[in-house]
Amino acid sequence: MLIVKKFGGTSVADKERIFNVAERCIREYEKGNDVVVVLSAMGKYTDELIAKAREINPNPPRREMDMLFTIGEQMSVSLTAMALAKLGVRAVSLNAFQVPMNTTSIYGNARIKKVDTERIRHELEDRKIVIVTGFQGINKYNDYTTLGRGGSDTTAVALAAVLNADACEIYTDVDGVYTADPRLVPRARKLDTITYDEMLDLAALGAGVLHNRSVEMAKKYNVPLVVRSSLNEHEGTLVRGVAKKMERMIISGVALDENADRISVIGIRDQPGSAFKLFNVLAKKGINVDIIIQSIGRHGTKDIAFTVAHENLRDAMETLENSQDMLGFESLECNEDVAKLSIVGAGMMSNPGVAAKMFECLYNNNININMIATSEIRITVLVAVKDAVRAMNAVHDTFCLGD
Ligand code: ADP
Ligand code: ASP
Ligand code: MG
Repeated sequence: MLIVKKFGGTSVADKERIFNVAERCIREYEKGNDVVVVLSAMGKYTDELIAKAREINPNPPRREMDMLFTIGEQMSVSLTAMALAKLGVRAVSLNAFQVPMNTTSIYGNARIKKVDTERIRHELEDRKIVIVTGFQGINKYNDYTTLGRGGSDTTAVALAAVLNADACEIYTDVDGVYTADPRLVPRARKLDTITYDEMLDLAALGAGVLHNRSVEMAKKYNVPLVVRSSLNEHEGTLVRGVAKKMERMIISGVALDENADRISVIGIRDQPGSAFKLFNVLAKKGINVDIIIQSIGRHGTKDIAFTVAHENLRDAMETLENSQDMLGFESLECNEDVAKLSIVGAGMMSNPGVAAKMFECLYNNNININMIATSEIRITVLVAVKDAVRAMNAVHDTFCLGD
């Protein structure tokens, strides 16, 4: 069997943890299996690199950021290979150039295009444990790229897909995927299984336990994922295609995204093409928007509000300010003190009243809703940051998601 194992930052945070990872890999290897390991940077090293960069330049070029980021993962793979060597097991560490792992050109948010498997296969045939840097790739200019924060999960799933692995295990600092972030909702319950679609929504809506593109890719290539702790032997959560009917709940989880900001465009012309032009200038800058609300027009104008990720706020505001004449709006406002709270569940489709129940819960807790967005399997509301964790716990209890 070929097993891909990915270990996140906390799992390789120090010497003891690195040896713990090495020992787990050896146990797999000694069963006769081929083992490919994907690692993140140690602990919070990626955050430390960002802080270092900002000391030099508060707005560093993205290419240079990626050049800097890659040393984090390179450090953990080489140290882990050294730990394996110390324990007497053959291992080799590989970075994105050595794999090679080809991506699109966008620094800081590249997508994997093609992964060469020849070198990895050759090393596996040589009975080595192969340790690959997560998060990084190379583009057509022969530069390093990175896949976006948390992107090592996506590296692992991509490798599992191209190598046709028998299992892809994501080791982290919690026991699996929970009904809500267990650090924010103490009563959250661990799920035994969750579907790709539900996990995709949870991940996209703020549940940082898996990089959302890793789930997208797992679904596309039908790679079952197991999310589990690197610190114990508990079973973890299986992320896969279909849920067993028995286990199907109306709501599978609650997610919070405190990284969302709201922009309001006031007094834009109420005529065909306004929304198109507005969102087109943002799209051309590569800025994603999420919840969108448009008011009813009056006196020939209307207001449009939407959310963007915090890191895009400045860029979005500047882009709109520069296009004010073309778009013809009166003013712009932004609000950073907002958070997106979402409930997700495939069972919602066939159960009316889920939205009403969520809104009633927020009303009972005196929490105001700023914006609402829904799809077949999710309901998202925008609330004030100060209310967010309280709202999350209240909604979680209302749907009886806890133990
Ligand atoms: P790693 O470094 O291993 O990739 P991350 O910090 O990226 O770890 O992801 C694990 C964290 O995700 C947990 O510590 C937890 O706080 C958070 N998290 C958010 N939502 C959930 C959820 N629904 N289930 C489990 N963990 C969650
Ligand atoms: N080290 C990178 C980050 O902190 C990638 C990852 O951990 O998945 O975002
Ligand atoms: Mg992660």
